[in-house]
Amino acid sequence: MSGLAGKSIGELLRLYRKGEVKPAAVVNDCIDAIDIRDRVAGAFLEVFRDDAIACAEELGREDPGSRPLYGIPVAVKDNICTRGRPTTCGSRILEGYRPPYDATVVERLTAAGAIIIGKTNMDEFGMGSSNEYSAFGRVRNPWNEECAPGGSSGGSAAAVAAGMVPAALGTDTGGSIRQPASFCGVSGLKGTYGRISRYGLVAFASSFDQIGPLASDTEGCALLMQALAGPDGRDATAIADNCPELLSGLDAGLAGLTIAVPEELGGWELDPAVAAVLDEASRAISVAGSSPERVDLPGMETSIASYYVIANAEASSNLARFDGVRYGLRVDSDSLKGLYTATRTAGFGEEVKRRILLGTYVLSAGYYDEYYGKALAVRKMITEAYRDIFSRIDLLMLPTTPGPAFRLGERLDDPVSMYLSDIFTTPANLAGLPAMSIPAGLSADGLPVGIQLVAGAGREDLLLRGARGLEKLFRFRERFVPGGGEA
Ligand code: GLN
Repeated sequence: MSGLAGKSIGELLRLYRKGEVKPAAVVNDCIDAIDIRDRVAGAFLEVFRDDAIACAEELGREDPGSRPLYGIPVAVKDNICTRGRPTTCGSRILEGYRPPYDATVVERLTAAGAIIIGKTNMDEFGMGSSNEYSAFGRVRNPWNEECAPGGSSGGSAAAVAAGMVPAALGTDTGGSIRQPASFCGVSGLKGTYGRISRYGLVAFASSFDQIGPLASDTEGCALLMQALAGPDGRDATAIADNCPELLSGLDAGLAGLTIAVPEELGGWELDPAVAAVLDEASRAISVAGSSPERVDLPGMETSIASYYVIANAEASSNLARFDGVRYGLRVDSDSLKGLYTATRTAGFGEEVKRRILLGTYVLSAGYYDEYYGKALAVRKMITEAYRDIFSRIDLLMLPTTPGPAFRLGERLDDPVSMYLSDIFTTPANLAGLPAMSIPAGLSADGLPVGIQLVAGAGREDLLLRGARGLEKLFRFRERFVPGGGEA
C-alpha cells in the first residue's frame, strides 16, 4: 500500500494537478487497503473493482484540472441506488434487487470525475446508531476493534477512518452521518433539508432524510457538497436555489462569527472527554476572535421523542412497499396476505419490525393526536425557536454525541439507550438545518470525540467556514492516528 487511499480529497487533487500521480494508482491503493483492512472492519458490502479501475484508466487520459472531483474514489452507502448493482439497505428484504437507475448523487459524482469504489455497510434501512442492525454483519471501529463505528452510516465512516477511501457518502435522518463521523474521528456533513436530491435514495423518513459527505477533513466535505448540491426536477423537496459557494470563503477564519454554546444541555450527562472538548472549543473560539454567546436551546428534552415518533410513522408508511411483489425477497404462500406476512417476517430484522409497529401505532386512529400530532407540534416549536436563534447568531456549537464510541454489543438489548445517542443530532433534522461533526480530541481510552456545529437554513457556507476554523485549532488529523493515539 502506498498510503494514497488515506490522503484527503484536497491532497489528492493537488497531486493530480501537479502530475505526480494518476487515478489508477489511487484506485489500486484503495483496493489494496480494502483487501487488507476490510477483512476485519466489514465496512464494504461490495467493491466495484473492475469498473473502478476501468474508470480510473479512462480518467487518466483527461486533463486533471477538467473536473472538480477528478479521480477521487468515493464509497457509497448501500441505501443509495447504483444502476445494475445490488442496493440492499443492509436488509435481507432487498435480496436480489438491482436498481434500474443511478441516484442523482451517483450521477453527479461521476460527472464531477469521482470514481465509485463500492457500497458500504449500514444499519438496516438506516435504523440504528451502531451498525449492528445490519443483516450483513457488524462493522468494527478502526480506532478500537471492540467498539462500534456508530450508525447508521457506520461502513462509510469506518472506510474513511481506516484509510480505505478518501471519502464516502452517508445519509442522515437523525444523525447517521454526524454520529458515526464523531465515533470514527472523521468529518461528516448534513446539509439543509433539500440541499441534496433524494432521488434514488431508498426512503426511511422522507421529511428528514438527507444524503451527505464523510471525509477526512472540512475541505473534502466542502468539495463533495459543492458537487452534489443543487436543484433536481426529480425530487420535489430539493431546494430550488443553488448552494452558496463553499470553497472561496473556507479559510476566512472564525473572527467575526458569532458562535453560541447552549446554556445547558437539557440535563443530559456528558462523558468527561466530551465535556472537556466542548470546554476547550469554547475557550479556543474566543481566543480566535469570534464572539462566544450562550443561548437557551429549546427542545433538548423533547426532540428525541418527537424525532422517533415522526421518523417511525414515516418509516411504517415508506416500508409498506416491501411486500414480496415488487422488490427483492419473495416468500411464497397460498394467499396474498400470506405472501406479505411470510416475506416481511423473513425479510425484516427485529429493529425494523419494532419501528414499523411503533410507527403504525402512533398513526392509528385512537392515538394519532396524542402521539403523531403532538410530535409534529414539538417539531414546529423547535423549528421556530431555531429560526429565532439563527436570526441573532451565526453558528451553534454543541457535542455531536454524549460520549465516545461504545462497545459492540453493549446497547443491543436496550433500544432506548441506543436511541439516546441521537439527543444532540436530531434537533437539526427536526428543524431541517445544516449541521456538521468534526473530530476534536481523544478520550482517555484513545477514542475520537467530535464536536458539532449547526447553522441557519441555507448557510452551509458559514457552517464550513466555522468547521475549517475549528479544525485548524484542533489539528486532529495531524495529531492522532487510529490505533496509535498521539501521532
Ligand atoms: N439513529 C437514528 C435512528 O435510528 C438515526 C438514523 C439515521 O439518521 N438514519 O433513527
